[in-house]
Amino acid sequence: RATRGGEEVRGYAPSMGQIFLRRFQLVTQFRQSLEDGHVSVHYQPKISLPNRQVQGVEALVRWVHPEFGRLGPDEFVPAIEAAGLIGVLTSFVLEESLKRVRKWLDEGLRISAAVNLSVRNLADEDFPAKVQRELERFDIPPELLTFELTESGVMSDPQKALPILRELHSLGIELAVDDFGTGYSSLAYLRQLPVDQVKIDKSFVLGMGTDLGDLAVVRSIVELGHSLGLTVVAEGVEEDVARDQLEAMGCDVAQGYLISRPLPEDRLEAWLQARTA
Ligand code: C2E
Ligand code: CA
Ligand code: CA
Ligand code: CA
Repeated sequence: RATRGGEEVRGYAPSMGQIFLRRFQLVTQFRQSLEDGHVSVHYQPKISLPNRQVQGVEALVRWVHPEFGRLGPDEFVPAIEAAGLIGVLTSFVLEESLKRVRKWLDEGLRISAAVNLSVRNLADEDFPAKVQRELERFDIPPELLTFELTESGVMSDPQKALPILRELHSLGIELAVDDFGTGYSSLAYLRQLPVDQVKIDKSFVLGMGTDLGDLAVVRSIVELGHSLGLTVVAEGVEEDVARDQLEAMGCDVAQGYLISRPLPEDRLEAWLQARTA
């Protein structure tokens, strides 16, 4: 997209009325779209460094809307959250992901799946029990499931979120702090969370080749994460150089377009086969 002085130049600016109408349509049509198979999950592989083996995938939701076409999650997840429908979305993504992991286990592959949570999931006291039931239903070892959550999410209501996080963690599920380095992340607070992984926000990883400040941030998150005993994941790895730098710093896992874009199921299978052949 073209930009001018930081402002997006578009063909037209939608009016407030149009924005509200579209939001309203998205929210009211979501369940039907799920039933009609217009909502799906794409998977983006993550590789271990330095051996470059596929370690897991991140599940990223997609919606091909009959009228609006392809929608990115940034366009509809906030509306779904606000409408109180996030439980429906998360259940769908979780179930799809666990089916995948089951299929891989049956083929002799141990690949974990990471599912993004919203704060609202952490306000649901029954959430851990629901997750446990799903793990049992597909007979998945809990360590093959990771939940990614943003700090700002957890911190908006720690009283509610913390007990639920502890419960998920005690089930043996991995927890990752997403978009680390953005927002009001505090180091002290990272220690209090029952987390296993920290994901360096892609803005720093994308900038580290040209911006010494970004490079310094990435380096310090890797060190901080390791000193707290956490697995450090870098997202937004688009260039060889970035992967090599991350590898040299000791970063544990890399995810980004260099490795693969998020892929639909069938293309992911082909990608995995080509890679392990
Ligand atoms: P996120 O969790 O930070 O996910 C990473 C985003 O970065 C994804 O965007 C992914 O496609 C993109 N990405 C991956 N590698 C690269 C790269 O090398 N370069 C660049 N520039 N971008 C890269 P996507 O799929 O559009 O998702 C956007 C956000 O929507 C996610 O950010 C997450 O916060 C949210 N989201 C996606 N799926 C779900 C879901 O199932 N549930 C919830 N609650 N949120 C979701
Ligand atoms: Ca994520
Ligand atoms: Ca992220
Ligand atoms: Ca994000």
